[in-house]
Amino acid sequence: MKTFYFDNNATTQVAPEVIDAMMPFFRDLWGNPSSMHHFGGQVKHYIDKAREEVAALLGADPAEIVFTSCGTESDNMAVYGAVEAAPEKVRIITSRVEHYAVLSACRHFKKHGYEVVEIGVDGDGQLNLHQLKDELSKGPAVVSIMAANNETGVIFPIEQIGRMVKQAGSVMHTDAVQIAGKIPTKVHDMPVDMLSISGHKLHAPKGIGALYVRKGTRLQTFLLGGHQEEGRRGGTENVPYIAGLGRACELARDNLAGEADNMARLRDKLEQGILQNCPKDTLINGGKSPRLPNTSNISFFGIEGEAILYHLSDLGIAASSGSACTSGSLEPSHVIRAMGVPPEHAAGSTRFSLSRYTTEDEVDYVIRHVPEIVERLREISPFV
Ligand code: PLP
Repeated sequence: MKTFYFDNNATTQVAPEVIDAMMPFFRDLWGNPSSMHHFGGQVKHYIDKAREEVAALLGADPAEIVFTSCGTESDNMAVYGAVEAAPEKVRIITSRVEHYAVLSACRHFKKHGYEVVEIGVDGDGQLNLHQLKDELSKGPAVVSIMAANNETGVIFPIEQIGRMVKQAGSVMHTDAVQIAGKIPTKVHDMPVDMLSISGHKLHAPKGIGALYVRKGTRLQTFLLGGHQEEGRRGGTENVPYIAGLGRACELARDNLAGEADNMARLRDKLEQGILQNCPKDTLINGGKSPRLPNTSNISFFGIEGEAILYHLSDLGIAASSGSACTSGSLEPSHVIRAMGVPPEHAAGSTRFSLSRYTTEDEVDYVIRHVPEIVERLREISPFV
């Protein structure tokens, strides 16, 4: 069966160019970069090159890039590292719609007596900046607010938020996992001290990420061990994956503007097509906010996201649902709930996320099939 992949916020296809860039490090260049002999010396240079590419995508200095194993590790490292480096402060600020890589790291500190404040969002998914301003006056150790939401694609005004945090004298981290490679992600435009990215969201493999750490940021080392990454993260470097991330960042930098325009055009076509054919009781979550060019989160009244996914999957279409099965009932995700989407809509939220490889024909196929699925499910829904 032909397949139609619309789940790129979950993970992306590894670019063929990235695979080519990684292969030599499995076959020939397998030395340990810390070794003094030539096996090690040979590969060190490629780590430096990859670090330069990641830094170039982010407009950073290569010395400010720390390689990690994933976005989750980058997020954990930022939160733990900043909190541990400021033992005199006992507050942490984050948002209610963060990925659990940030939320769980922050909530962990509650057990140790920290006050963790989760800033709310409005119905369009936008952060409550008044609440943030009030909370900042109480001097948090770290503020971790994402650059764009993985479920809705809603973009937060990180430049403004970062300025507020810096004025309050706190450390600012942003989870940029969903923006890197999709929209310009330049640290000189964002007054952040730390920024996380993840390889598998931008056509590198799973299992590699990076944390940007602005020079001078106080950060306690999270993964203790050897002196790799200038003592900021122990562990022998994952050379093939680092090379792959470097190549993925280079590709993203070269093609970003054109790809973003194309994804936005296809995403808009997808939404218009679906709205035209299912006009009744269909909402685009976060649709009134600035959004990532590739993400569409649609709520269909009266039906369940899981049922939609099941029917889509039968037709070869891979998307994702905004609900998670908790204790036998379908609970809308924490993001959709935080936005206050009414429960009869929230249960039917479905995310379509595109990539540079998404084609017009694939979008047309989805537009053709979603309305008939929605109609069929509504016919048997007790709510409609
Ligand atoms: N942060 C965001 C916003 C994400 O979307 C994800 C993955 O879905 C992560 C962090 C975690 O990244 P990783 O899967 O590389 O650990």
